[in-house]
Amino acid sequence: MTATEQQASSPVAVVTGASSGIGAATARGLAAAGYRVVLTARRKERIDALAAEITEAGQQAEAYVLDVTDRAAVDAFAERFPTLDVVVNNAGGALGADPVATGDPDEWRRMYETNVIGTLHVTQALLPALTASGDGTVVVVSSTAGHGTYEGGAGYVAAKHAEHVLAETLRLEIVGSPVRVIEIAPGLVKTEEFALTRFHGDPEKAAKVYAGVAAPLTADDVADTITWAVTRPSHVNIDLLVVRPRAQASNYKLHREG
Ligand code: NAP
Repeated sequence: MTATEQQASSPVAVVTGASSGIGAATARGLAAAGYRVVLTARRKERIDALAAEITEAGQQAEAYVLDVTDRAAVDAFAERFPTLDVVVNNAGGALGADPVATGDPDEWRRMYETNVIGTLHVTQALLPALTASGDGTVVVVSSTAGHGTYEGGAGYVAAKHAEHVLAETLRLEIVGSPVRVIEIAPGLVKTEEFALTRFHGDPEKAAKVYAGVAAPLTADDVADTITWAVTRPSHVNIDLLVVRPRAQASNYKLHREG
């Protein structure tokens, strides 16, 4: 098979937030599973480098700079796809950990914009192409924060609850169409940037999130879960998959050594 024939025959997966952490690992996982992956994020150099790494490994990847909060940009991106097999809505994250009494409304807004409106933009724009494929999959990477709250988490928790509701409602609305909606809700995952971003670049505060936890989930663990869910036969819909490290029995019960 020529490279062009291979490209034409491979299923295509778009991954948002593919410049780091879970999104980057998911791009690697889906590429290894035979997908042509389209890596999107705001930081061009990071997705370019990852696309090159995947291509050098003999798999298929391309990079496209995209801010999911920019609807016009998302619509322009979607025009590239007459049909599409998978979209992984992963771009997002937390900002701050203040109580409701003192939380920054601007940070709440930004979290809602990225996690919820970003997922809405991308899903709306790509749904026609996913439907046209005859076998599409929407993945929403929410969080266990989308299923229970904790002190200091309300802004992020509210956004992730909304993302969960988006996934659940979409599944109800499009039943009968050839598109699955899969929600993956990870617990504590140690990625290079998530906690740093949350604590505005403070490495000490970020390190405390994982302090004493023997084995938090890794980005690869979550990517493995996403890849498994996506590669089930198309009539099998993993509605919601909660994945935590063994040391975390609930949002509240995290075992720390020492
Ligand atoms: P991360 O390493 O901080 O990655 C976040 C990704 O989102 C980056 O690639 C970032 O890329 C992208 N992003 C942020 N804002 C964006 C925007 N406006 N447009 C496009 N891309 C944007 O975090 P992670 O740990 O991998 O988390 C990935 C997802 O899993 C998030 O939705 C997060 O809420 C969720 N999650 C994480 C954990 C955890 O403990 N780490 C647990 C549960 C759920 P650019 O900055 O290059 O745009």
